[in-house]
Amino acid sequence: MTTRALEDRYGRVATDLRVSLTDRCNLRCNYCMPAEGLDWLPTEQVLTDDEVVRLVRIGVDLLGIREVRFTGGEPLIRRGLTGIVAQVKEDAPNVEVSLTTNALGLSRTAQALADAGLDRINVSLDTVRRDTFAEITRRDRLHDVIAGLEAAGAAGLDPIKINAVLLRGSNDDQAPELLRWCLEHGYQLRFIEQMPLDAQHRWNREEMITADEIFTRLDAEFDLAPAAEPRGSAPAELFTVDGGPGTVGVIASVTRPFCGDCDRVRLTADGQVRNCLFAREESDLRAALRSGASDEELADRWIIAMRGKRAGHGIDDPTFLQPDRPMSAIGG
Ligand code: SAM
Ligand code: SF4
Repeated sequence: MTTRALEDRYGRVATDLRVSLTDRCNLRCNYCMPAEGLDWLPTEQVLTDDEVVRLVRIGVDLLGIREVRFTGGEPLIRRGLTGIVAQVKEDAPNVEVSLTTNALGLSRTAQALADAGLDRINVSLDTVRRDTFAEITRRDRLHDVIAGLEAAGAAGLDPIKINAVLLRGSNDDQAPELLRWCLEHGYQLRFIEQMPLDAQHRWNREEMITADEIFTRLDAEFDLAPAAEPRGSAPAELFTVDGGPGTVGVIASVTRPFCGDCDRVRLTADGQVRNCLFAREESDLRAALRSGASDEELADRWIIAMRGKRAGHGIDDPTFLQPDRPMSAIGG
């Protein structure tokens, strides 16, 4: 079996596969989707568990994928999640498998996921105040997230990373509070700049909280120093807090893009390869797969899909166009 690289015209090689398992979600984060939700993908268009496992296997065996992250929408609402993780780990024990989740219901599934071989988990949590949580997510479910985090820790998932987005006038004054809470609980917090990927197309450059603002807010209460470990292709700039060992990360996707070091490729729940979050073209693996394409043919299509990857997301270009699919339907 020959492994070929998912290399683009700029020499970047994708080894990190993000797989969206559903576009549906049980929260309604206001920077992600509207209160009424979205027009979800019809079930027949969504890849089956076996189709997901096959495409991941092709990525790993034929195309050099070394990390797989399941996301969504909300991946925990995908019924077959544990089985998919178990099968991927059985097929490829050396591949790191992780999950990005809002943690609702994780208290019931964390142990099964750990037993299935899940290596790591990222939980999205923008606030530890119940009222702010309910305002942002439009659901009063903070207690479920906290129970999910506790269960993840009890199941031995380590490290537990927390992703947070700061929103002006909503939780932007809570960055130090969230960091303190994460440090107390042993969670690794990373702040992510808000990106123009909301379904409502309401993102506004002037409104977003920049990495510089995040630093200013944290600096007022903590002593931050650049962490020693090299950043590599990791998007987070990492800092030790008050001399360590606790750390905090900032992912400045908009103001300090890291596109030049990008090693990611995405597969949507309906089987489209996207070479970038901001790509405007997709490549349909599902149709090929369902019409009987061989593993090699699917790998060929995937390789071609990567060639068109653009040098950068271009958010600052006057010609920038937000992609049609929102973050929740691409897989964040
Ligand atoms: N539902 C899961 C969750 O919330 O973790 C997985 C999917 S969600 C789309 C993945 C991540 O994208 C979350 O951490 C969320 O905060 C983030 N996100 C959603 N919309 C975003 C936006 N417009 N800009 C930056 N991050 C966003
Ligand atoms: Fe759902 Fe995640 Fe979007 Fe929130 S950020 S609405 S949890 S997909």
